[in-house]
Amino acid sequence: MYQLLSQHGAARRGVFHTPHGDIQMPAFMNVATAGAIKGAVSALDLKRLKCQVQLCNTYHLHLRPGDDVVRKLGGLHRFTRWEGPILTDSGGFQVFSLAKLRNIKEEGVTFASHVDGHRIFMGPEQSMRIQSNLGSTIAMAFDECIENPAEYRYVKQSCERTVRWLYRCKEEMNRLNALPDTINPRQMLFGINQGSTYEDLRIHQMRQIRELDLDGYAIGGLAVGESTEEMYRIIEAVTPEMPKDRPRYLMGVGTPVNILEAVRRGVDLFDCVMPARNARHGHAFTWQGIRNMMNAKYTLDESPLDPECDCPVCQNFTRAYIHHLFKSGEMLAMRLCVIHNLYFYNTLLEKVRNSMDSGEFDAFASRYIPVLGNRI
Ligand SMILES: [Zn+2]
Repeated sequence: MYQLLSQHGAARRGVFHTPHGDIQMPAFMNVATAGAIKGAVSALDLKRLKCQVQLCNTYHLHLRPGDDVVRKLGGLHRFTRWEGPILTDSGGFQVFSLAKLRNIKEEGVTFASHVDGHRIFMGPEQSMRIQSNLGSTIAMAFDECIENPAEYRYVKQSCERTVRWLYRCKEEMNRLNALPDTINPRQMLFGINQGSTYEDLRIHQMRQIRELDLDGYAIGGLAVGESTEEMYRIIEAVTPEMPKDRPRYLMGVGTPVNILEAVRRGVDLFDCVMPARNARHGHAFTWQGIRNMMNAKYTLDESPLDPECDCPVCQNFTRAYIHHLFKSGEMLAMRLCVIHNLYFYNTLLEKVRNSMDSGEFDAFASRYIPVLGNRI
């Protein structure tokens, strides 16, 4: 259940109650693709990094180790040792972006595994069964994620199919939750808004899916080829159509600036591989902007990665040391940088919430939007 605590223009401060604990919103979800954050970071680390929600990927876990295996091991919470809320995606995004030779029909999608090429069928029911086996807190509806730009007629047809798929998802989820041996009988379901960059399709589809009275709603199909301005325009068009008493999740977005801009437009929940992925390439997000730790100017720099950061890395290590680890190809370089970046993202959202609680969100956003994207 989502509780709206305060509103700041279109921006929202709220709390989402789940069977695995409360999520203070706006919030950032930390992406643990195959049950681990890439960069050798575990659930034990996440507890120290202000992480509230872990996100795991249905497609990857279905291929390896197999959702039946995770189920036998008690579900994702027991398997990964993360006790808080977990969101699983539907597998749709990976099926459409990673898998080869896919064939879409009304029933679902047949595709070849990117691991060994074997043929797999996934439709709404399969996605719900896999997510039920994983036992996540929040399951995402199975949808088609279309890359931008896309042809209007195709997007319209695809959106209509995604709505039909959503009805099937809901029915299957209700059936699975009622089974006596379900790992999480209170598993929640979020629907996904699609419609590419066409406002009329986005709004029409949102109005259709909000009729289903789901636990939350996501905006999908953004940050997949369109410009940042187009993305903001679509968010602005869709959020007024989203139920006020449900969380709003913008999928796969984005940079710290993207997140602040989307919060301003009424989004509550985010996920992105960027903090971990960029960290593995030596890019650190800081309160002064983005630092490239490969840069030779850090060779003798004894200051912390970010002097304004309280994370375990900034409290202990110097820029010189982290620079050396990257130059030497040490695994620790990635781990330390990922820890810092996740802490930074989780702290960014914490500061957003605090600024709302003290009535200073606009000032906070105006202060940091011009700074956080700078390369320094
Ligand atoms: Zn730090």
